[in-house]
Amino acid sequence: MTAATPFALSNEPPRPASHLFYMTRLRRPLVDRAEGIYLWDTQGRRMIDGSSGAMVVNVGHGNRNVIDAMKQQMERVTFAYRLHFENEPAEELARHMAEKMPGDLDRIFFVSGGSEAVESAIKLARQWAVVTGQAKRWKVISRFPSYHGGTMGSLAVTGDLALTETFAPQIRDMPTIPAPRAYRDRDNFSMEERGLRYADMLEEKILAEGPESVLAFIMEPIGGAATAALVPPDSYFPRIREICDKHGILLIHDEVMTGAGRTGRYLGGDHWNCRPDIVTLSKGIGSGYAPLGAMAASRRLVKPVLDAGGFQHGYTYAGNPLSCAAGLAVLDETERLGCVENAAAMGELLKSELEALSTRYPFVSGVRGKGLLIGADLVADPETFAPLPKVKSANQRLIDLAYERGMIVYSRRIRGDGIEGDNFILAPPLIITAAQVGEMVAILADTLDALAAELDLPVNR
Ligand code: PLP
Repeated sequence: MTAATPFALSNEPPRPASHLFYMTRLRRPLVDRAEGIYLWDTQGRRMIDGSSGAMVVNVGHGNRNVIDAMKQQMERVTFAYRLHFENEPAEELARHMAEKMPGDLDRIFFVSGGSEAVESAIKLARQWAVVTGQAKRWKVISRFPSYHGGTMGSLAVTGDLALTETFAPQIRDMPTIPAPRAYRDRDNFSMEERGLRYADMLEEKILAEGPESVLAFIMEPIGGAATAALVPPDSYFPRIREICDKHGILLIHDEVMTGAGRTGRYLGGDHWNCRPDIVTLSKGIGSGYAPLGAMAASRRLVKPVLDAGGFQHGYTYAGNPLSCAAGLAVLDETERLGCVENAAAMGELLKSELEALSTRYPFVSGVRGKGLLIGADLVADPETFAPLPKVKSANQRLIDLAYERGMIVYSRRIRGDGIEGDNFILAPPLIITAAQVGEMVAILADTLDALAAELDLPVNR
């Protein structure tokens, strides 16, 4: 294994101007190859994938069995349009996935990514309401902060002003309730009481909006990009289900980030035996080998929609045989390699190591998460969670300092609704070993030392 060498961008050999553009002008090294939890650039420098890309590469990079399964599929057929043909990989994958879903969520609709899965869920919910005589229901309540995707429909239920406010005039305004960030509350309530209080905010919102107008509630069972692995108190989940049932509202679990074993159970909601009506998945189910997303829906919703003439929705690449062959092999590998169990065990280790670091670096506070989705906040005061000033760009500096030390960390600054602050997520591939967790923690400690020195933050030595 090549030792990590600095990724200072000033060391980059000159490259021609790029015709590509993404979010910023930021340039990164050219990737060459990847294996396990590591990526190498064309200069031979190695990087630990501490966030599995964007919490995607669950079974690790370069898995031979997945690659071979895809090659075999490519030799047969890579595309057959779903209105012309069914295909075995899609059938088989849907059958396996249905077995992993809770309750009667055994109707699977494939898409190519997370935003498409969320769009599909919102549209299925709406169509179900229309065909069952509830056409007044259209509002989808979501949480603030939250992240549900980048398309207009998924942005409408995303709680992050940094991403939504420019597009506000083009987006249908949807109601939100506060995400259950109970770990930050400074009151005399127990965590369980806080969980109920946060859940009850859903009922208050439903009543304020008019229950007959509310279609669904969408939430990430364990938080992702916006709340960095937020885990609600246990009491939250049953109360949310109870409120949805009481008012005839559909419960959508967005498991795009938490699904496919990431949190140490196949679904994040499985930690609480949740019974949502719709589950959205992506990221880990394709594990970076092919663009793949899915919606799993209750039979109770799908039947009346199909009976009434069909689901008025679909994408060209839906159920693509190559993506589904990749998804099928990923599912096999998830089981063969014991990824879910390893995520639980290595997640415990990583979380306890991060808790130890938060004692040493008090600007790291609120360590949380399950399995290999571990998060924390970067704060000015660990008790009050007062945010660091925006000018410090703590999130970007954390990313860059870790990057220079050979590790990818996922970090964001959230803004809006009286909420502001930096957080980060550690989410390596689910095949990580204890020794590799140690490697990540050593780089992170070094990174936090550098961050403290640069931003003048306290360190307990
Ligand atoms: N939903 C959740 C919970 C996500 O974390 C994401 C992406 O981060 C999405 C939806 C959107 O997925 P995609 O970027 O694949 O469209």
